Amino acid sequence: MFYIYCPYCGEHREEEEFHPKGQAHIERPKDPEACSDEAWGDYLFFRDNPRGVHHELWVHAVGCRKFFNVTRHTVTYEILETYKMGEQPSITADAQGQPREAVAASRQEGVRA
Ligand SMILES: [Zn+2]
Repeated sequence: MFYIYCPYCGEHREEEEFHPKGQAHIERPKDPEACSDEAWGDYLFFRDNPRGVHHELWVHAVGCRKFFNVTRHTVTYEILETYKMGEQPSITADAQGQPREAVAASRQEGVRA
């Protein structure tokens, strides 16, 4: 068992209280009637499946019942941050990838030396 920080409750709670709801930051087309079938299909059915940093929508189902966003690493399962709806992540794949790999590489070199 592990704990997830709920940004609305302001505390860490057991992970069993939460449910993932898929990819975060999916914007509904502004005018669905003017939207092409391909764009509408992309909106409804296609999601990112990255190896690395991913932004997900979660709900605190057995708590405040509010939705919030989680930045999670799909390889390590590490939750890097949680943030409220309407907010933007401070950690992104672009900003995250290089420094973490650089840190990991320096640690490995440190072990070898
Ligand atoms: Zn909560």
